[in-house]
Amino acid sequence: MQIKNHYLKKVLTWLLPFTCILCSQPSDCDQDLCTPCLKSLPLLTKGCDCCAIPLPENAQGWLCGQCLQKTPPFDVIHALYKYQLPITNLILELKFKQALVNAKILGELLAQEIQNVWYKNKPLPNLIIPMPLHRQRLKERGFNQALELARPVARKLKIPLNTIDCIRHQSTNPQATLSAHERQKNVKDAFSVAKSFAEEHIAVIDDVITTGSTMTEFCSVLKRQGAKRIDVWCSARVC
Ligand SMILES: [Zn+2]
Ligand SMILES: [Zn+2]
Repeated sequence: MQIKNHYLKKVLTWLLPFTCILCSQPSDCDQDLCTPCLKSLPLLTKGCDCCAIPLPENAQGWLCGQCLQKTPPFDVIHALYKYQLPITNLILELKFKQALVNAKILGELLAQEIQNVWYKNKPLPNLIIPMPLHRQRLKERGFNQALELARPVARKLKIPLNTIDCIRHQSTNPQATLSAHERQKNVKDAFSVAKSFAEEHIAVIDDVITTGSTMTEFCSVLKRQGAKRIDVWCSARVC
């Protein structure tokens, strides 16, 4: 059966070649992204060991000033790319033009990095929680992009997804123009978590980390519900 499926996959790839979502040319891989475009993506290579914010070249140590000052409620953020072109376009198309194929590809790339690099010699979390979306936003968009990103990751890593116990009951204003204090106030009490997560090692997935204040608030709630460790996985981080 496996041979047949493999054969079928080859035939289908030949009949219906994958098309690269960036250059629109037939892809040389069995996904909708070609090798040259994949290699051109802006990997986030060196950042703070805790929150992943890029550190200046001459930085002393491995933690940024903010994480040194106040320990965040998450244990680590792993961000695959810098939030720069063409990643910005892929994420905006996903959110506002329903390009769900972008979530599939970004999720698969995230899963590869998790398996081959970030957790090569480390135990994986035992549960994945996608960043919840407010129901009004969900109604407008039709899907939660964090969940769409989490699906291929959960499938590839064989980690269960929890999508029902965490609720975002506050549609927060855009954060970009607010000061750090205002951002924290803006997201205060934005989440409720009904379940105890005692002793769980959780991975929270989101598409982009902008200021980190929404993630900080959500992770604080999960920690209050007993989470033992929280690792954040995201496709991109604003630098
Ligand atoms: Zn391409
Ligand atoms: Zn940091």
